Amino acid sequence: MSGSRRARPAQRSVLVVGSGLAGFHTARALRTAGFGGTLTVLGAEQHPPYDRPPLSKAYLAGVVSAHDLALDDPEDPLDVDWVRGAGAAALDGPTRTVRTRDGRAFTADAVVLATGAEAVRLGPPVPGTHVLRTLDDADALRSDGVGGARVAVVGGGFVALETAAAATALGARSVTVVSPERNPLLGRLGPLVAAALRGLHERHGVRFVDSARATGFLTHDGGRVRAVVLTTGGSVDADLVVTGVGATPATGWLSGSGVTLGPTGAVVCDVTGGTGVPGVWATGDCAAWDTGVDGAHPGGHWQDAVDQAAVVAASVLGRASAALPDPYFWSEQHDVTVQVAGRVPADAYGRVVAGSVAGADLLVTYERGGVETGILGMNRPREVMRWRRSRAPRTRLVASA
Ligand SMILES: Cc1cc2nc3c(=O)[nH]c(=O)nc-3n(C[C@H](O)[C@H](O)[C@H](O)COP(=O)(O)OP(=O)(O)OC[C@H]3O[C@@H](n4cnc5c(N)ncnc54)[C@H](O)[C@@H]3O)c2cc1C
Repeated sequence: MSGSRRARPAQRSVLVVGSGLAGFHTARALRTAGFGGTLTVLGAEQHPPYDRPPLSKAYLAGVVSAHDLALDDPEDPLDVDWVRGAGAAALDGPTRTVRTRDGRAFTADAVVLATGAEAVRLGPPVPGTHVLRTLDDADALRSDGVGGARVAVVGGGFVALETAAAATALGARSVTVVSPERNPLLGRLGPLVAAALRGLHERHGVRFVDSARATGFLTHDGGRVRAVVLTTGGSVDADLVVTGVGATPATGWLSGSGVTLGPTGAVVCDVTGGTGVPGVWATGDCAAWDTGVDGAHPGGHWQDAVDQAAVVAASVLGRASAALPDPYFWSEQHDVTVQVAGRVPADAYGRVVAGSVAGADLLVTYERGGVETGILGMNRPREVMRWRRSRAPRTRLVASA
């Protein structure tokens, strides 16, 4: 990894691959830090950079528009060459040259990989089945008539649960969550929070088929989905299905580039986002950073992408930067905002500090080996933010040159 941290001459050109949250914030951090060279951002999508969290919440529910999701400020746009509809197909590490699917080549002094992740699909597309990763996915789902439909949501993670809540708000005739665990997010957040989340959804009319996975779909003669087939042998009738079973790093195009991919397919990075290929960094959902605390961190959340972008921008410019703060993420489901700060290791012990499972107003701290590692609040922004502030010294610098 030290290759990326060797002293470098001043960068005159930076190429960011991926125009999502991490790519946008890397570009912004570079300009904010005074980088005056050529800054090019390639994006596979045709849309200007936009924010994804509302796709499964306010945007899906029709409360905000696509215009509201824009990351750039139309009043004060970033000085960047945006190249839209430019999917990267290959990286030549030694020359830092990226080739696009349509045959163009871009070379720069520094390359930042920020291609995010792709939704996992259960098989070939079936009419009436959806995933939710992009603005186009959300538009397709919205226009497929959620209101009045029997909606099945496959998966028990955050995007699945948020989608179930949005479908309820949109007036779905029924919403059924097919969850692989007994209660959703049991393995991730522990039994108390999992029970509280299930109770919250059930109070809003969501039905759970737990301890089950989907193996495929039954269709009408016309080809549209009519049911989800379960591992348990049964099925769930549905007019519309949303599959929310996770995402994989969008890194297939990097094979042969010299960049190391870890077991999940994420780009393996050091504490500055360096990939080990000189002049090439990675950030956001496509990357697994060494946090310097608990090994490789797979990311996958909004704040990770923003925090990493700041560190990468400093690294590209050969400057030291503050180490990454503790992880933080949030989720919104029905009338509850869940916030998690710090770490929730698989073997952590969750202690209820306030609230109740029935009230979906829990404040839970997580400990491992007698050491507090994280906190979760349901509609408890003040307590979670206080905990974050108390844990965020941001004084440890990471060397970037
Ligand atoms: C529906 C949804 C809801 C979410 N809600 C929350 C939430 O409530 N809280 C939270 O903390 N996090 C949430 N997240 C996670 C958060 O949005 C992501 O962590 C964040 O978007 C990661 O940013 P990124 O730039 O790494 O990846 P992305 O935002 O995925 O952007 C990557 C970009 O790279 C492009 N790309 C991919 N391959 C190529 C290629 N070969 N060439 C060029 N461009 C390419 C993609 O088209 C995309 O535009 C949510 C995510 C989703 C999908």
